[in-house]
Amino acid sequence: MDKKHIVVLGGGYAGVHAAKTLHKAFKKHQDKVEITLIDKNRHHILMTELHEVAGNRVGEESVMISFDRIFSGKMVNVVQDTINDIDFKEQVLKGERSTYHYDQLIIGTGAQTADFNIPGVKEHAFYLWSLDDALRIRCHIEQMVKDASREADPEKRAQMLTFVVAGGGFTGVELVGELIEWLPTLCKQNGIDFKKEVRLINCEALGNILNMLPEKPRDKAVKYMEKKGVEIMLNSLITSVDTDGFTTRHGDVIKTKTLVWTCGVRGTEFCERLPLTDGKIGRKAVNEYMQSPDYQNVYLVGDGMWFLENNRAVPQIVEAAEQTAKTAADGVIYTIKSDLGLKAEHPKPFKSNFHGFMVSIGGRYAVSHTAGMSLSGFFAQALKHMVNMYYQAGVCGINGAWSYFKHEILEIKHR
Ligand SMILES: Cc1cc2nc3c(=O)[nH]c(=O)nc-3n(C[C@H](O)[C@H](O)[C@H](O)COP(=O)(O)OP(=O)(O)OC[C@H]3O[C@@H](n4cnc5c(N)ncnc54)[C@H](O)[C@@H]3O)c2cc1C
Repeated sequence: MDKKHIVVLGGGYAGVHAAKTLHKAFKKHQDKVEITLIDKNRHHILMTELHEVAGNRVGEESVMISFDRIFSGKMVNVVQDTINDIDFKEQVLKGERSTYHYDQLIIGTGAQTADFNIPGVKEHAFYLWSLDDALRIRCHIEQMVKDASREADPEKRAQMLTFVVAGGGFTGVELVGELIEWLPTLCKQNGIDFKKEVRLINCEALGNILNMLPEKPRDKAVKYMEKKGVEIMLNSLITSVDTDGFTTRHGDVIKTKTLVWTCGVRGTEFCERLPLTDGKIGRKAVNEYMQSPDYQNVYLVGDGMWFLENNRAVPQIVEAAEQTAKTAADGVIYTIKSDLGLKAEHPKPFKSNFHGFMVSIGGRYAVSHTAGMSLSGFFAQALKHMVNMYYQAGVCGINGAWSYFKHEILEIKHR
């Protein structure tokens, strides 16, 4: 009998979790089942730590875990390829390097930044949604401070020393937190008085930042940021961006050469193009088993899927990625085991179990709201480190937790 081919497309939080769940279920049936994970990169990227790379807290190696390491000794074949198209009728993925047949497919290709068609964002703003984005931001900021130190024209110098992060969600605030710590050192190295000359702005369209947190930790975050000199612009929807800065709905014009856009996410263009039933904002609709309504053997997980739970869209966060991946993997396991005449447990419909949010504001401060409890400062930061270490231990064992500890605590850069 031919082997059953399961393909997991995308090795992010969702894809890795799905592949590991499938391995566990089929490790005793390697003669009957084959699992392939396809990703365009050779590494699993810790997206939740990208702001630390952008803000020069850690090197890029600390957010990259090679797939070889994650799946060493496991029945998961890892293939590096970029998939451009999927023929769902023929059950074939079409990549840049090859084509891949599947019997069961799990798609976890993540998300990308949404520009909401605001003029100039795509052309002039920086994004923070990939390792390349993070490195680009880091290089640009270094260059801006260097250039400013040589600039005699006060207006141009002020523009170069105005750093704006658009978006007051966790991505935006975490990046601002890194800049709070990095910019003073970088300025000092270049002979610039940070307090007198630099503007660090967090620009948010709504009336509050960190809207997913309760009032208490949110207020603490605002207080901390303001104490560190951050200008928080609220109710300031950006309406246009150009090479010299941006304009808000109220007509405020901010001159800057550095606008980092973290205002929203959508499904990837790749995912949006697939001939499957649409959800919203580039995400594809799924049922409660994470199955596409169009093909029973196609599942979507993580940031790219669209599912309403109690009338609310499942959010684009790590816990949702892992939990949707588990639901999808359980569905695949059930189908294949049933086909093979093995004992199989019917999958349970998706039910989220989210624990809350932890937001670091640099390496020395954080706020969190988990399991109904709000924390701030050292305790919230320690909790975030523990959760990250736990994740890395789950992905690649005790060595993973150790390498996190080394990068984040022992080898921390002196910014
Ligand atoms: C700076 C930042 C901070 C964040 N902080 C938090 C946080 O504190 N807490 C939280 O819960 N969430 C946070 N998030 C969100 C979180 O990272 C996402 O929800 C999570 O990454 C979603 O996982 P995923 O597996 O769906 O997608 P991803 O992790 O994005 O993985 C998608 C994978 O698919 C691959 N891929 C995509 N297209 C193709 C293709 N065509 N062919 C082959 N491979 C492809 C990619 O290479 C990637 O490996 C943060 C995100 C960012 C950017």
